[in-house]
Order: sequence, then C-alpha cells, then structure tokens
Amino acid sequence: MIPYGRQDISEEDIESVVAVLRSDFLTQGPCVPKFEGLVAKHVDAAHAIAINSATSALHIACLALGLGPGDVLWTTPITFVASANAALYCGAQVDFVDIDPVSFNMCASALEVKLQQAEKDGRLPKIVVPVHMCGQSPDMAAIARLGDRYGFHIIEDASHAIGAKYRGEFVGNCAFSDITIFSFHPVKIITTAEGGMALTNNDELAAKMALLRSHGITRDLDVSSSDYDGPWQYQQVALGFNYRMTDMQAALGISQIARLDTYVQQRHAIARRYDQMLRDLPVTTPAQNTDCFSAYHLYVIKVENSGGTVSRRSVFDHLRAANIGVNVHYIPVHTQPYYRALGFAPGDYPNSEQYYSQAISLPMFPKLTDADQAYVVETLVQALSG
Ligand SMILES: *Cc1c(COP(=O)(O)O)cnc(C)c1O
Repeated sequence: MIPYGRQDISEEDIESVVAVLRSDFLTQGPCVPKFEGLVAKHVDAAHAIAINSATSALHIACLALGLGPGDVLWTTPITFVASANAALYCGAQVDFVDIDPVSFNMCASALEVKLQQAEKDGRLPKIVVPVHMCGQSPDMAAIARLGDRYGFHIIEDASHAIGAKYRGEFVGNCAFSDITIFSFHPVKIITTAEGGMALTNNDELAAKMALLRSHGITRDLDVSSSDYDGPWQYQQVALGFNYRMTDMQAALGISQIARLDTYVQQRHAIARRYDQMLRDLPVTTPAQNTDCFSAYHLYVIKVENSGGTVSRRSVFDHLRAANIGVNVHYIPVHTQPYYRALGFAPGDYPNSEQYYSQAISLPMFPKLTDADQAYVVETLVQALSG
C-alpha cells in the first residue's frame, strides 16, 4: 500500500533517540528545552512550549486565553475534530465559520458576516481558531483585523504547517495571532511520534501554558516568603495536566527539524509534478494563494462529478483497490454524531459539505518515489474514465 502520508526516519533519528535511552533523563532532561529553542528560532517566535500532542496544546492554549463556560470558540468545519473539541474541554461552546471553496480555509468574509450577526446577538466569540488546511495559511491578516475590531483572540491551528510561510515569514511567528499550534504526529511535516507545540510572543501566555502542561505546579517560589519551607518545595497554583513531551520525543524532533526545509521542498516538488500530470484531468488541483508558501501536508484534489457517472466514491474505491492509501480530509466536524447531538446538522455549512463530497487526499510525503507517483496518476486516470 502506498500511504497518503508517511514519516521519514533516518539512522541519525534512531541514534538520537537511543542516546536518550542511555542517558540519565528519559523525560524533562535537556532535549525538551533544546527542541523548543530550535523551533522558536526557526519560526521566529519568542516562546515555544513542547506538549505531548497538538490536541493537548489546543486545550491549554484555550485555557491560557481564559476560555471557559459561557464563552464561545469558532473554528472551521474542515479540520480534525481536535480543533473544535478543545473548546468543549474548557466547558465553552463551539460554532463554525464556513470555508472558502478555493483555499478550503476559513473564509474571512463569512467570518465577518457571522461576527456582525453575533455582535447584534451579544454572542461574539472569545477565540477564533483558523486552521492552515493542507499546510496553506488562511487569510491571517484579514482575520487579525477582524480580531482587533471584534475583540477576539486567535489561535492558529497550524498542525499541517510547520515550515510553511505567510507573506514571506514562517508560520508560527504569531504575527497575526496570540498562539500558534504545531503537531508532530507521524503523518505531519516532522514527527516526534506523538507531540505538539505552542508558539507565542506573549510572556504571560507562555508562562500559563508551561504551568498547565505540568500539573499547575511551580518551583519558582519566593524564598523570602514566610510560606517558604525549603528547597524541596513546590506549589500547585492552577489545575494543570500532565501534557509533557518526553526527552525521547524531543530528541527525535531535534533530529527531524534539521530536515524540515528539505522536507517542505520535497513536498513542493511532488505537488508540482501532480499539478503537471493532473492538468488535463476532470479534477481540481489545490490552488495556491500568492501570499502563501504551503507546507503541503496534504495534496487534496476535488473530483468534478458534474453530471458524469464517475463519483468521488468510485474514484476512491478504485485507488484503494489498486493499493493506494488515499484518504479524505476531513469529514465536516459539525456532521459528526457528537456535534449533531449538540444541535448542528448537515446543511449548516454548504461550502464545507460540497468540498467534503468531492475531496480526495492523494499520497504526499517526502519519500514518495517518482515511480509510485506515476502509478498513482495512471490509476487515477483509469478511475476517472469509469
Ligand atoms: C493532526 C491535527 C490535530 C491533532 O494533532 P495531534 O498532535 O495528533 O493531537 C489538530 N488539528 C489538526 C488540523 C490536525 O491535522
């Protein structure tokens, strides 16, 4: 099976993890802060907080921004469920903004229309979570302008987008947001097996997230205070979690990030070949905004089932039967049973649902060979001819 995404693990990656196993610290040793420093430096953010997953990172990012019962978080339906679930973990509510059908990202004008209505209803969101779908940035400048006007915070779910650029700068520098989240799950751009990171330029948010990542416990105590018992002392000052990344994971991340830019270039080369080879087929290839340099986590085509007999389903089945691990990203979150039970229904976000009915993610990962890619395209040609 040619998968839709796959990690790339080198001998150096393996050696760096093994070196941690032979060292004194399996967790909370020197690798975690070193990895944080490398990511922060790469993307030019003031702070990086390594976390055990992007899901956990989204959770504590929301808590650090004060999201709680009575508040609302808005995100896009075309994302992994974690972007929305983060709000529910905090006891807040979720609502969605439909996508732009060309970029598959949250539509800034749909956001504006929804904000105007929410202002009248007194239900403005506290946080908006735009997602860098497939690795391409949303229109962050427009979203940030709306943030200033309507007073919401912004968390960029850039799980797909480490190594991507927006207006010539690396995603993660938080130029248009409070916090940016990366994921290091094996299908993403670089991996730590499980893992995530929160980037911010705000000292206070960074301190809060560091606290929440580790039980809400601090050892940074005032030694002159009458409460100071001695050097063994720690204080729990918030209700935190164990969301820490291990040193084994961070060692893998340190080794992987050295290849980040190469990986993104390889993904671009694969995307250019797909663009070229699919040019004359009845499919829509991913549009690239000139403001953006995508990380190309995913290469999503849309099958144009306009009146023909060939449906997305038949194309998908044909590719799978030929041992090509195509996938669909994503089932609109609001149509999931859990979200339907909260009151959402099919029909709520037509652009997202239209996208979902046509989308297929083709194999896209740095070590995809030319021969395998040619086989994917040949098989797709057959599938489309019915
Ligand atoms: C992968 C992903 C997540 C969750 O990442 P984990 O590290 O697996 O928790 C969240 N949001 C998006 C958009 C993702 O693709």
